[in-house]
Amino acid sequence: MKVHEFQAKQILAAFGVPVPQGRTATTAAEAREIAASLGGKCVVKAQIHAGGRGKGGGVKLANSPDEAEQAASQILGMQLVTHQTGPEGQRVKTVLIEEQMAVERELYLAVLIDGASARPVMMASAAGGMEIEEVAAKTPEAIHRVSIDPVTGLQPHLARELCFDLGLSGDEQKQAAKLMTALYAAFIEKDASLAEINPLVTTKDGRVLALDAKMNFDDNALFRHAEVEALRDRDEEDPSEVEAQSKGISNFIKLEGNIGCLVNGAGLAMATMDSIKLAGGEPANFLDIATANDVTKVVDALTIIAADPNVRAILVNIFGGMARVDVIAEGIIQAQRQMEKAIPVVARLAGTNVEEGERLINESGLPVIRAADLGEAAAKAVEAARAA
Ligand code: GDP
Ligand code: MN
Repeated sequence: MKVHEFQAKQILAAFGVPVPQGRTATTAAEAREIAASLGGKCVVKAQIHAGGRGKGGGVKLANSPDEAEQAASQILGMQLVTHQTGPEGQRVKTVLIEEQMAVERELYLAVLIDGASARPVMMASAAGGMEIEEVAAKTPEAIHRVSIDPVTGLQPHLARELCFDLGLSGDEQKQAAKLMTALYAAFIEKDASLAEINPLVTTKDGRVLALDAKMNFDDNALFRHAEVEALRDRDEEDPSEVEAQSKGISNFIKLEGNIGCLVNGAGLAMATMDSIKLAGGEPANFLDIATANDVTKVVDALTIIAADPNVRAILVNIFGGMARVDVIAEGIIQAQRQMEKAIPVVARLAGTNVEEGERLINESGLPVIRAADLGEAAAKAVEAARAA
């Protein structure tokens, strides 16, 4: 789950990470008042769940309450397009008005889980303020990493090592080391999957603070963080993903292509998406129905997939282990009977109760396109999508 910058900053500040003073506004008049209370000089920042706001015109410096009001009226209500929003952009409902900092250096600092070592890793770079993916691709040596033993936590010598890599002065090092400890504590306590400060800045008056903040949380741990769950902003989430969650389908991710996929198991979903791409197509989603021996859930899943206006064909790829193919088949039949528009369905079914599943589909008389293996299924789905 993602949250807004101002929410991430509130969490981090509670753990002792220094952040600029500021408040949020939903109207330009409110922005003006906040700017005045901050002494006039401020930054007006669009609050959306995507980075790259600065480049997209969602972050503006203002030198007076008048300017802040004007900037807020430009940003509020705009469809902000960044490299992370997709071409349609995201509507801005809230702005954060913060005191303006006299920035000296822009650095990068983050904690995330490193899958390879199965440990948290803290990453720092002197190349802050830019996209870290770009830094990683062009100058990987500019990114410094320390692997953290979750039992002992962020040891002081590791924080010092990163401070040294960042080229910080003595007093800045002290502040930054404290900030790193606080960042790590917030990451662990809140079951975050990412806590990122880009940029972390040093200021002309000798301070070190988080100018931007991003936190993502592990969905599987949200049950023990009602306070985090309460920060959820449904408007920032894809409506079809929200719908899927409400139907108990947690593994649904909307993508840009035109072939809907109903698959059991994340690994099989990956292989299915790869096969579609290999066959020259693009998947419209990633949907892992897991071991759902429940016809309603299969129908719900197919209904959600079919509701995507981009979907031209649906590929059902089921390898029944604990999942029963006859249940899936019954779901396909019911969903096809209910569908408002006829979307071709390609099914590759194997495993538990496959004979019964095949019989149900054959007896239904519905035009389900059959495939013996994944390669054939992908090719037929791509062909069906093209023809549709
Ligand atoms: P992002 O583009 O969505 O990552 O938004 P950021 O919060 O990182 O802001 C983008 C850029 O705006 C930062 O990298 C800074 O260069 C600039 N910026 C933001 N706040 C301030 C500020 O208080 N003072 C100065 N000088 N620049 C700022
Ligand atoms: Mn940023």
